[in-house]
Amino acid sequence: MVSTIPRPLMSYDEVLQLFEQAADDLDLEEEVRLLLRMPHRELHVGVPVRMDDGSVCVYRGYRVQHNGARGPYKGGVRYHPESNLDEVRTLASLMTWKCALSDLPFGGAKGGVQCDPKTMSANELKRLTRRYTQNIAHIIGINRDIPAPDMGTNAQTMAWMMDAYGQLEGHTPGIVTGKPIALGGSLGRESATGRGVVLVLQELCSDLGREPQSVRIAIQGKGNVGSWTARLAAEGGFPVVAVTDTSSGIYAEKGLDINALQAHLELGGRLSEFPQGVELTNEELLALDCDVLIPAAIGDVITDDNCDSVRADIIIEAANHPVSYNADASLRDRGAIIVPDILANAGGVIVSYFEWTQNIQQFRWEEKRVNHELARTITTAYRAVSSLAREKRCPMRHAAYLIAVERVAEAIRLRGFV
Ligand code: NAD
Repeated sequence: MVSTIPRPLMSYDEVLQLFEQAADDLDLEEEVRLLLRMPHRELHVGVPVRMDDGSVCVYRGYRVQHNGARGPYKGGVRYHPESNLDEVRTLASLMTWKCALSDLPFGGAKGGVQCDPKTMSANELKRLTRRYTQNIAHIIGINRDIPAPDMGTNAQTMAWMMDAYGQLEGHTPGIVTGKPIALGGSLGRESATGRGVVLVLQELCSDLGREPQSVRIAIQGKGNVGSWTARLAAEGGFPVVAVTDTSSGIYAEKGLDINALQAHLELGGRLSEFPQGVELTNEELLALDCDVLIPAAIGDVITDDNCDSVRADIIIEAANHPVSYNADASLRDRGAIIVPDILANAGGVIVSYFEWTQNIQQFRWEEKRVNHELARTITTAYRAVSSLAREKRCPMRHAAYLIAVERVAEAIRLRGFV
């Protein structure tokens, strides 16, 4: 069986428009633009897997390396039924800009397998991961391209990837990040993306003179990023009033007890069955009367179709590309502040960088050091973006692209690529 090609979730052209706007403003030479418009390499592989019932499925797998001027390619691997080449290409380009904005010595890449991990057994996922890794092994490497988890993948997936790569090349813990701690993963990596989101939120509130207690937050997504964002925001004194996942959601006007909610979920309960609130849908969450909306699930959830119903004045993009290009313009027209994905969710790749350096040095940092360095790195990026946005009176997204594109362009010129 070969899986079918579904509709694209997000488009490379949209990110390209953001790049072109920054390139225009930077007066970037045409040669550098030409190079940056085209991803370096796109690999499409068939991934045959023997299923538990004896049948064979061939899944579509991808790895796109967008630009490596600043260092080895870096980016997650997504397992999702709608994963496709254009989406992976889009996400790979976002990684180029994200790594440059946080001043990490990495280029941008992304991987994806078009599969539904929720319907597969652990053994099927293991066989899929091992075969996908073998099929992309010739283009990854500790100094070439370092995968990590993303939607639908986790530390276990990375452990299987590390082992499959190690069978070919010898033990190489630094080949992937986001590994289990026992295999060389970094302390603090699991919480890093959510922690980064909350650090950015705190910086923004301090800029706006807003006290956490008065800032009501709604979060879409209860996976790695959404859960940690909810937990750390609540710890920081922000009332988290609503949370949704694919199938259900919960709302409490005065704020949810996030620890109690987490315990309820760990016991197998659904969000909507949590007794201290009322059920709400994903559509209702996006249109909720709250101060900050944090989409932390999938791309393109706020589009032309629903952006007029969004009431939050601040949107923090914890997911990649949750706001479409047109919706972004409409929201800004009515005065909303949007913290772009390449800044807001950079915490994950920042701590992945720390994990990679620890693996290379064969040394482990304490969690306190990881969290401290994460805070320093993401806060520096936030301040650079917010002060440039103020100086140029432009949206934070444009300021972020100006900084990132200039850094990548400088590396291209210095290397003599063109
Ligand atoms: P995950 O697989 O752990 O969780 C995804 C969550 O989204 C789940 O709660 C799921 O129920 C929900 N979801 C899926 N489809 C949905 C839909 N149609 N409507 C509402 N909710 C839906 O994934 P994650 O690692 O938390 O990643 C979430 C987002 O953050 C992705 O866009 C990912 O690219 C981005 N991101 C993740 C990391 C990381 O370190 N994990 C880093 C940077 C960016």
